[in-house]
This record gives sequence, structure tokens and C-alpha cells, in this order.
Amino acid sequence: MEKLTFTDQQKAEFRQDALKYILPHFADNAELAKGPKIFTAGEGCYVYDIDGNRYLDTFASLLTTICGHHRPEIKAAVLEQMDHLEFFPNYVDTFTIPLIRLARKLAEIMPGELSVSFFVNSGSEANETALKMARQFHVHNGQPHRYKVIARKNSYHATTLGGSSVTGLSWFREYFEPLIPGSLFAPQALREDYGGIVSDTVPRGLTSLAIIEEMIQWEGPESISAVIMDPIPGSNVGYPLPPDGYLQGVRDLCDKYGILLIFDEVQTGFGKTGKWFACEHWDIQPDIMTIGKGFTGGYIPLAAAVTTPKVADSFRKEPGKELRSGSTYGGHTVACAATLANIEVIQKENLVAKAAQTGEYLKTELEKLKKHSIVGDVRGIGLLWGVELMADRDAKKPLEPKGKVGGFIRQWCWEHGMILRNNGDILVIAPALVISREEVDMMLGQINEAITAAIKEFSL
Ligand code: PMP
Repeated sequence: MEKLTFTDQQKAEFRQDALKYILPHFADNAELAKGPKIFTAGEGCYVYDIDGNRYLDTFASLLTTICGHHRPEIKAAVLEQMDHLEFFPNYVDTFTIPLIRLARKLAEIMPGELSVSFFVNSGSEANETALKMARQFHVHNGQPHRYKVIARKNSYHATTLGGSSVTGLSWFREYFEPLIPGSLFAPQALREDYGGIVSDTVPRGLTSLAIIEEMIQWEGPESISAVIMDPIPGSNVGYPLPPDGYLQGVRDLCDKYGILLIFDEVQTGFGKTGKWFACEHWDIQPDIMTIGKGFTGGYIPLAAAVTTPKVADSFRKEPGKELRSGSTYGGHTVACAATLANIEVIQKENLVAKAAQTGEYLKTELEKLKKHSIVGDVRGIGLLWGVELMADRDAKKPLEPKGKVGGFIRQWCWEHGMILRNNGDILVIAPALVISREEVDMMLGQINEAITAAIKEFSL
């Protein structure tokens, strides 16, 4: 890895121009006011900023760089592909070799019948595509009135307008309403022993299944196109595992009422949970699965909506029935080569099994954080964990004002060389699959110290 160096004058200009010429994604003006963070290099689980400071990244570049930064195998695959053909679109009737090889690999590793891929550039587009697939599938099956979608409160699916319509977090929706009609929201399914703070009205156990069925019946089953859900809800809520039987129950409801089931595994796929895909923990297969983020290892953007031959065949029967969707760069040639190399690294180094083992260790070690009275709940699986902070664990009393302690802990970690994500007062941990035991211990030590510092700072 080659580190870049800059003069103080150059650094000041980069900082100034970052703010002047760029609107960052989901920007935080309060954070930006402290100055932009500019990264220049990466190695394994570490990144380096423009001042040469090193940070252990416990969120793997937004859940993407799962095989670590600076992998020679992936770089070699990219360069090799560029020697042959950097790009030709997957359009109308054209394909490239890395695209076909990647699709073949997905058919091999994806659960059940999921074997036919539609490639796009982002997780948002993958979910957008899945929703369109479901709508068009029903039209071809003589059910054009199936347009509604059941999603879940607190689940994130996309930044696009279609995907925002099924995103159950008001912050992402508020400036853009009204969104697509027919987007319905069921509650999340929480285990009986879920320890996080939720209102008393949020159901426990399998009650949320009954609510979904009631919604289907009330709306009219013949009007519902799809149910979309993340089998393990994501970083916004800190990975609460679903109750056993819940995903099977959703599958059964979809089958009973002729609804397509979409699993959004953009965050949970590719080994993060200790299996290739989260739904494999409960052995449930969707009709469409969306993948992104770790899929590419962060090297070049690529995502996909992967479906079954049954759904795909409805688009390949006769002229006029083809899936009406596409983009110029979806299935980019070099992105496919990089992604294939990323998957090969995961396989060669047994990183899925390693994530499961590290997950067991994290479970035990994170539980120990409960020695701090403000650690209210610890939940997750594999390398996806949420640590929820509370003012009072027994009374489930939230910290006031919301996010202040979580923000302090994130900042403390940053100042001590570690990137930690917080969602309000939920600390969210999702390191790369390659994280070593030593790095895990370092991360745990820093979180412990940061919590201790927060307790002292706020006299908690
Ligand atoms: N689904 C989930 C569960 C996600 O976490 C995200 C990204 N945060 C997306 C979809 C959208 O992916 P992208 O940002 O690549 O569009």
C-alpha cells in the first residue's frame, strides 16, 4: 500500500474544496462543521486519513470491504480484466465473460432456487428492481391489480423514490412524500426476550405474523404484489434477530396468498452473519433476494436482484414480456471481475466459517459490557452486533437527550484511532470478515474504555 503525503497547504485546500464542491450522501451538517474527514489509504481492517492517522474500521466502509482493503487478488483480477475489456453493457442481447462467470458463481452459492441474476449498481437499485420484478410478474400471470407492497417499520431499503416508499424510517421519507401508493408497513418481529427499548405497543414473538395476515386480508390479497423485508433488520435498529418461526410464517403467508417474498440481504449477505446469507439460519428462501455492499468487497459498485427460474421465466417467454428495467452500467465488466475475485477470497479463506467463530466470541465478550449499567441490550449474530445504551436497563429508560452518549462514544473512538458507528444510542458493530482476534480484542477494549469515559463525562 502506497501512502500519499500532502503539504499543509494542500490539505487545507482539499478540506475547503470537499465542503465547497461536494454534497456528501446523507450529510450531517453538525459533523461537517467539525471539518471533513478525508481518507487516503487502506490496509486490511485499517484506513488512513490525510494526516496519516490510522483507524481500525469496525464498520468496514459501510459494510462493504469485507475481505479488507488492498487485496492483491482483487487488484490483479481488475487489472487483468482491464487488459481484455474494461466495459461492454449487459443490454438487450449482450453479455461479457466476467458477467457470466459471476452469475454462474451466484447460482452456486445462493440458497435454494435463487439462480437468475439481474445486475445493477447499488443496493437501492436492486430493491427497486425487485419491486418492479414482482409487479411485472403478476401482470404476466393475469393479476395486474397486485401493486401493493408490505414492508416493515424501521427497515431501510433504498434512497430512490420507489425504494423510499417501502423504507419504514420517517427520516428518509419526510421531504419526499407522497411516495408510491400502496406501500404498507407491518411492525418488526421481536423475540420475546428482546432487550431493546420499544414502545409497549410493539408486539413480541409471532404476533406480528398475525398482523401481516390481517393487513393482507384487509387490503385484499389480490392487491398485494410483494412482501419486502431484511431477514435480520439492519444497522438502523442494531440487528435484532427475528423470533424462530417468523420467517417461515412470512413464507407461508406469501405462499397462501400468492405474494412474492423479497429478502433484502444487501447488509446481511456474504458471510456477515456466519452463513453466506442470513435467511439460511432459518432455512427459508425468498422468491427474490437483493444483494450489494459486501458482494463486491467494496472494490467497484455492483449489486443484484437474484430470483428463481419460476419468476425469471415469466420474463423470457415471448417478445414483449421481458423485464422492463435496465441501466447502462448494471453488470459492469470490471465490477464483475472484482466481485468474482472477492467471492473467491471468501471461499478460499473460509471467511464465512471464520465470521461464525468470531461471532461466538463477540457474543460472550460483548455480553460482558453489561457490567456497565448503561449497556441495556446486546444483540446480533456473526459479525453484526448492536449494543444499545440506556439510562436504566431494568426500567428500559432511554438516555436523554437521545444520541448524546452514543455520539460521545463515537467521537471518543475516533480520537483513539477507531471508526465506530452509532445510531443514536445504539452502537453498531460490523467489521470485515477478515478481522483478526487481536483486532477484535482491540475493538472490544476501545468500546469498553469509551463507555467508561462516557459514564464519567455525563456522570451516569
Ligand atoms: N438495503 C439495505 C438493508 C441497506 O442497508 C442499504 C444501504 N444502507 C440498501 C438496501 C441500499 O443500498 P445502497 O446504499 O447501495 O443503494
